[in-house]
Amino acid sequence: MNNTTSNRIGWIGLGNMGAPMALNLLKEGYFVSVYNRSADKAKPLADAGARVYESVRELNENADIIFLMISDDKAVESVFSNLFKHGVEGKLFVNMSTISPQLACTLGVQCREFGAQYLDAPVSGSVKPATDGTLLILVGGRSADYDRVTPFFEPMGKLSLLLGEVGQGSKAKLAINYYMSVVVEGLAETVLFAEKHGIDRETMMLIVNQSACGSPMSVMKTPSVLKNNFPAAFPLKYMLKDIRLAQDAGLDTPTADVMEKIYAKASENGLADDDLMAVIKAL
Ligand code: NAP
Repeated sequence: MNNTTSNRIGWIGLGNMGAPMALNLLKEGYFVSVYNRSADKAKPLADAGARVYESVRELNENADIIFLMISDDKAVESVFSNLFKHGVEGKLFVNMSTISPQLACTLGVQCREFGAQYLDAPVSGSVKPATDGTLLILVGGRSADYDRVTPFFEPMGKLSLLLGEVGQGSKAKLAINYYMSVVVEGLAETVLFAEKHGIDRETMMLIVNQSACGSPMSVMKTPSVLKNNFPAAFPLKYMLKDIRLAQDAGLDTPTADVMEKIYAKASENGLADDDLMAVIKAL
C-alpha cells in the first residue's frame, strides 16, 4: 500500500469508467475507499481489496483525496451538496467527470470557501483506455494539488496535462469531444454515401483507414460499422451532453448546431445508450 494516512484515497462513482479507473489504483497497490449510489457496482472493487462505504458521508470521513467519476452536472451537484453538509475542510477533490466549465469553477470556489481544494480532471478515452490505464487526463487547478495527485494519475493514464486554473480541464475536454462528434458523424455520412453508390462498408472502411483520414478513431469504430452493431464504448447520450455543454460554454458555429440536432435525433430514436457511432443508424 503506497499511500500514507494523509493521502487516503476515496472514489465516488463506479460506472463504466469509474470502476476500471479505481481498479487500476488498487492494482497499483493503493488502498482505495469507494462509494457508489447503487451498491451492487462496488462488489468487484471489494473483491479487489477496496473498502466499500454505503454513504458519501462515511467515505468523506475516511478519505483525504476524493476522486469523482459520475454522470453529469446534476449528479455532481447533488454529490457535492451532500459532501459540503458533512464538512470537507482539508480535503482535495479530483473531479474526473465531464461537467460544464461553469460548474467546475463554481465548485472550485465553493471548495475553497469550505477549506478544501478542487481539481477538474476530465478524461479523454473510453472504457478500453480506462481499463488499460491509457487515458488522457486534462487538469485545471493549483499546481501544488496537481503535483500531489500526479502519482495517482499514473496508473490511470498515459498522459496528464495541467492546463491552467480550475475549469480549463473541462474546456479542453469539451473541445476534444466536439472534434470527436464531428469525426464520427463525418465517418457515418461517408460510409452511407459510399454504400448508396455501391461501395460496401468493408471496402469503404479499408479506404478510410488506408487514407490520410484514417485514425485510431476510424480503426476503433471499424468492427462496429461492419457489424452495424454498436455496444457502448462512449455512450451517444454523453456525446449529446458534451456537445450541449460546449454550446453553453460558447461554441457557436453552424456545425455545432447541426451536430446537436443529429445526436439529439439519434438519442430520441432510442440510441442514447448505444455507442456514439450508432449515429449512423439515425442518418
Ligand atoms: P455511467 O456508466 O453511466 O456511470 C455513471 C455513474 O454516475 C454511476 O456510478 C452512477 O451511479 C453515478 N451517478 C449518476 N447520478 C448520480 C447521483 N445523482 N448521485 C450519485 N451518483 C450518481 O457513466 P460513465 O461512462 O462511467 O461516465 C462517467 C463520466 O465520465 C461522465 O461524465 C462521462 O461523460 C465521462 N466520460 C465517459 C466516457 C465513456 O466512454 N463512458 C469517456 C470519457 C468521459 P449508479 O451506478 O447508482 O447509477
